Amino acid sequence: MQPRRAGHPPPAITDVDERALAAWLREHGEPAYRARQIRRAFARSSAADWDGLTDLPKPLRAALAASFRWSAVEPVHEVESVDGETRKALLRLHDGHHIESVLMPHHGARNSVCFSTQAGCPMACAFCATGEMGLVRNLTTGEIVDQVRHWSRELAARGERVSHVVAMGMGEPLANLDAVVGAVRMLIDPELFGISPRRVTISTVGLVPRMDALAALDLPMNLAVSLHAPNDRIRRRIVPASRRWTIDEVLAASRRYVERTKRRVTFEYVLLAGVNDAERDAAELAARIRRLGRTADFHVNLIPVNAGPGGFERPPVERMERFAEVLQERGIAATLRISKGQDIAAGCGQLKVPEGRAARVGAEDLG
Ligand code: SAH
Repeated sequence: MQPRRAGHPPPAITDVDERALAAWLREHGEPAYRARQIRRAFARSSAADWDGLTDLPKPLRAALAASFRWSAVEPVHEVESVDGETRKALLRLHDGHHIESVLMPHHGARNSVCFSTQAGCPMACAFCATGEMGLVRNLTTGEIVDQVRHWSRELAARGERVSHVVAMGMGEPLANLDAVVGAVRMLIDPELFGISPRRVTISTVGLVPRMDALAALDLPMNLAVSLHAPNDRIRRRIVPASRRWTIDEVLAASRRYVERTKRRVTFEYVLLAGVNDAERDAAELAARIRRLGRTADFHVNLIPVNAGPGGFERPPVERMERFAEVLQERGIAATLRISKGQDIAAGCGQLKVPEGRAARVGAEDLG
């Protein structure tokens, strides 16, 4: 393991792989089986710190605490929507930056965590609050996994667990592919979190080569592709990252993803009044998807825009319903989803760290 530089905190245990942990245990004269015991404990125990792992001898707990942080994220505060269906946490990273993470509890039946993959986001979609922040930095595997651990601990108090995870928080997951895949591998590991890959969804703005790289992993995860437009003319206006690839290239990569993984792909489509909500837009989108063949492999998720940058407005409900109908009439499965948690700015595209927060907290740390 790297010697620690002065002033740097120790790594979080979730950022230490099994081999490194095994090496640390050897150096400390501990038996090899402890590695598994420790990894299982951090994934499953609802302990708040190392001291809570009472199955481990006290001196070992103290040594672990001196070498590894128990979590890569530290909760700052939490808010709950009025309807109780969304909770949002502001989490602090070791270097003073902040991220947000969301839990959507569905009456005990299903608990979905929406996690962030970057602090900020470089993609700059015209209607997205995270995009407005720009990229602060990529998150590490531990910083991703520990968002799920944060919510797991809360749910454990009620005898519940995280059942689904979606990479739809701050950031572009495929722009931080290695860390995201590292996190997914831990989340689906039956020894650790044991979440079925079928309950894991990665959302992307459509980085074509990375979509292929994701498919090549042969993990049966769900992919959501943020399309938002029926053609390149409209898409380039609202999703600047799309200038690298045409919409047809993104759709072809989506088809390849289905072929390889046998999973359906969801197309996310944010409805913006007067921009992409016309009947002819729906017809054009349907025609494009139909050209991919076997329309049953795809699903369109229509999202009325949430308040955010750019001054975009939601189309009237009848217009949104008509958009969905046009798709359905052409054999494309489409759902109109009113996203939750807007009273606490936890809806799609609303995650954003309060202005100046990272800088302010960073400066305090220096003092
Ligand atoms: N960067 C990835 C992951 C973010 S997921 C991606 O683009 O897919 C967040 C989803 O919410 C994306 O589909 C995004 O386009 C959508 N979104 C962003 N801003 C929104 C807004 N103001 N209203 C509704 N949805 C929004």
